[in-house]
Amino acid sequence: MRGLPIFLDMLDRPAVVVGGGVAAARRAELLLRSGARVTAFARELGDEFFELRARPNFRHEPRDPAPEDFAGRLCFIATDDERLTHAARSMANNAGALVNVADRPTISDFIMPSIVDRSPLVIAVSTGGASPILGRMLKARLETLIPAAYGRLADLMSGSRGRVAAAISDPTMRRRFWENVLEGPIAEAALAGNEGAAEAHLEREVERWAAERASPQGEVYLVGAGPGDPDLVTFRALRLMQKADVVLYDRLTDERVINLVRREAERIYVGKRPDNHELPQEEISALLVKLAKQGRRVLRLKGGDPFMFGRGGEEIETLAEHGVPFQVCPGVTAAIGASAYAGIPLTHRDHAQACVFVTGHGRDGKIDLDWPALLQPRQTVAIYMGLRNLEALTAEFIARGASPELPAAVVDNATRANQRVIVATLGALAAKARAAELRGPSIVIIGTVVSLRDKLDWYAPAAAAAPRGPFYPAGVPSPLVRKG
Ligand code: SAH
Repeated sequence: MRGLPIFLDMLDRPAVVVGGGVAAARRAELLLRSGARVTAFARELGDEFFELRARPNFRHEPRDPAPEDFAGRLCFIATDDERLTHAARSMANNAGALVNVADRPTISDFIMPSIVDRSPLVIAVSTGGASPILGRMLKARLETLIPAAYGRLADLMSGSRGRVAAAISDPTMRRRFWENVLEGPIAEAALAGNEGAAEAHLEREVERWAAERASPQGEVYLVGAGPGDPDLVTFRALRLMQKADVVLYDRLTDERVINLVRREAERIYVGKRPDNHELPQEEISALLVKLAKQGRRVLRLKGGDPFMFGRGGEEIETLAEHGVPFQVCPGVTAAIGASAYAGIPLTHRDHAQACVFVTGHGRDGKIDLDWPALLQPRQTVAIYMGLRNLEALTAEFIARGASPELPAAVVDNATRANQRVIVATLGALAAKARAAELRGPSIVIIGTVVSLRDKLDWYAPAAAAAPRGPFYPAGVPSPLVRKG
């Protein structure tokens, strides 16, 4: 992270602005808004200062600054005069003052973020100087996203904070209380400008919560995290991720997705252990029940979609048996993610009218599939957990009557920066995948739709420095494949 994001309390603190033009005026205005006492050094002040000059906290010095003008002050330099810029900067630095030079991040001690001001709510956006335009674009989006009335809402909450803290002593309960306020009719009333009603309602709620002293009700969110690319997480999943007190995840959940979970949430890994044993399913289910019964909001994150070969159904069956409330949030399942990011439509008017999703993970190593149903013409087969058994799988397809010339693909680490796609005929697929040293997770796609990739391949993650195209040269493993 470049730059420490902080909000400085400037109330009644002195600040220096060097310059008399538009940029200087903007900085002076912002400083005055934050309650600072501003001294502007400029031979002349431009028109933009007209209104500022009258403010009690504003002072104009019609001269260049001297070394003693800087001590203990925050300093903003915004002048076209290069000599003055450098002189002021070194004087300020010598006096131990922190300096911002307008539009010159490289010679600044701190930069000015783009801000969305809904005081007391303030959002600051910085790209660390990398792209001020991106920062401004984001700011513009946030401006449209956050109603002006959010300031009023923050004021309302701030006014009641002390009372709520006194009435509801348990911090978890208190957080729950505020979340209910923000997600319910109180916030709606405040945002609609109905502050009186909002305040009265808030008052009643505080009393009710204090009187009931109900222990918070735990809940489980079974959430599909998608195949990897965090952009594929749904809005609802994100909201639940932000509410969770504790998260259970396994090895299929992408780290970048886990990082979207509320920062304070406890993280419990329930995937493969170093001894290579997964936590048995019953234990995971039991853990979910236990945590929810403690009153916690438990997020069970699943790769892809929770009901798609994810045993999500079993987990919530146990919850239902124990009377634990739960909700399920769908996710983009791996085959759908692989299809999009590999440029292989699973159905297509000229190729396939149906697609079946199957698991290639046989019980006791035996592949147990409904072969006649799979080997239908004009049908695509997407296979989960098929990489390890790929030799046997493809051989069995061919033995049961599939043409060895049928186009097929393995999409490894679909939607991620290290996605790799191996395309071959059904007969050659397994050898080619092995030569490429794929580690999975992988989706196998079988059907003539695979040939569409020649035209529809679009995804070129920046990290994929390895050769691109429908084929990877056999035996040249991508440097991006994680070993082990
Ligand atoms: N619930 C998950 C599937 C869990 S089964 C879903 O809906 O996607 C695990 C299998 O999913 C893996 O063996 C692999 O076949 C597939 N898979 C999961 N993530 C994947 C990814 N990013 N790329 C390719 N396949 C993936």
